Amino acid sequence: MALSGIQIFKYLPKTNCGKCKFPTCLAFAMKLAAKQASLDDCPDASNEAKEILGAASEPPIRLIKIGTGEDLYKVGEEAVMFRHEKTFYNPCGFSRMIKDTDSTDNIKLIISNLNDFVYERVGQHLKVDIIYIKNESGDKDKFVNTVKLVQAGIKRPLILDSSNIDNLKAALDICADKKPLIYAANEDNYETMTALAKEKGCSLVVTSIQGGLEALSVLTEKITGLGFKDIVLDPASKSLSSLVQELTQIRRAAIKKSFKPLGFPVIIFSGRYSDGDRLLEANISAIGVSKYASIIVMNDTSREIMIPLFAMRQNIYTDPQKPMQVEEKIYKIGEANEDSPVLITTNFSLTYFIVAGEVENSKVPSWLVVANVEGLSVLTAWAAGKFTPEKITKLVKESGIESMVKHRKLIIPGYVAVLSGGIESKLPDWKIQVGPREASGIINFLKNYAA
Ligand code: SF4
Repeated sequence: MALSGIQIFKYLPKTNCGKCKFPTCLAFAMKLAAKQASLDDCPDASNEAKEILGAASEPPIRLIKIGTGEDLYKVGEEAVMFRHEKTFYNPCGFSRMIKDTDSTDNIKLIISNLNDFVYERVGQHLKVDIIYIKNESGDKDKFVNTVKLVQAGIKRPLILDSSNIDNLKAALDICADKKPLIYAANEDNYETMTALAKEKGCSLVVTSIQGGLEALSVLTEKITGLGFKDIVLDPASKSLSSLVQELTQIRRAAIKKSFKPLGFPVIIFSGRYSDGDRLLEANISAIGVSKYASIIVMNDTSREIMIPLFAMRQNIYTDPQKPMQVEEKIYKIGEANEDSPVLITTNFSLTYFIVAGEVENSKVPSWLVVANVEGLSVLTAWAAGKFTPEKITKLVKESGIESMVKHRKLIIPGYVAVLSGGIESKLPDWKIQVGPREASGIINFLKNYAA
């Protein structure tokens, strides 16, 4: 049962040391009760407190791992309904459906396309995360051969789907060490499926033949009663509108009501509601990203479909409390030399990657000096007093840029043109040049600059 903040407070050290980043133990206890903090953040918590509060501070949605090593994909462990309340932890995984009725050539083509498709955005390398292999044929050999073909062609976590337990066992014989997710236990087979998942150390999708969240929660209670908790839910919603409703109900029940039978990640199949329409499938996947799918199985993962979904997922799953930052240093773009222009910007990731991208696109080799302003954009950092003539002067003096170029010209962002006089007075050897306000102006600016 969930404990209140006051109940949790009784078990904390009550020294108000602040190591947990909260001013008092009571404030930390309140956050723990709201599932917005982890007991691990209190280094002085006693073993007794850990034991008693452990279950109470468990995430309301269980963490599930699919795959191993570098191919591990984690879903679940979410603790809030909305990102601004704290953060979302584990981005939903996009999974490509492969059926064992597909031709070998077609499967090879899908694999080759997946291997070739890695999209870089704001320093992250984004790709289709998981492969879903469906025993559509019902044939054991076809299923096993498809699993072999996929395993030989690509390194990604797997989901194995068969209604025939012998076929699943045969497929698991060749890949159980990769810890695939197994699909699926229902009212008719949950005992044998649970035994198989337990034996192989894999997680298990649970879905109800009867349908509805009540039947689904009865089923998960039976399975957890067998001592197995590594569950992913498939609500098998009958329509798109009921899918959205049920995804929300599951998240709300787990987080607001601490309702354990629905406290698991959720898998959805966008193709179930799209009737072969690839754009509709993409839109349904987008709904899943925002509300509240953990794994999204898709029939079409081509570039034009995935890139907007990757961007959307990245935006939603970026921690709003921690600005994404890059390292403070001098970045060499192209074959920059001692005559190349020197630009300066801030270390907010988005700012850095946009500016660096535009400099690269200009084809003018340049030096980009990046200032650590705690991950703020140029204008915000200036307004917050973190991107100042003093900061820029110190960076120019200490970064080593003066030994890397013969000239003494520094290009500052147009938005902080107001800093130019202050910098020049502190760096009398340097001429401060005001660059464009928007990154989109960098290409023309640098081309004219170099001309
Ligand atoms: S770290 Fe622990 S002891 Fe220190 S204030 Fe936080 S809860 Fe209290």
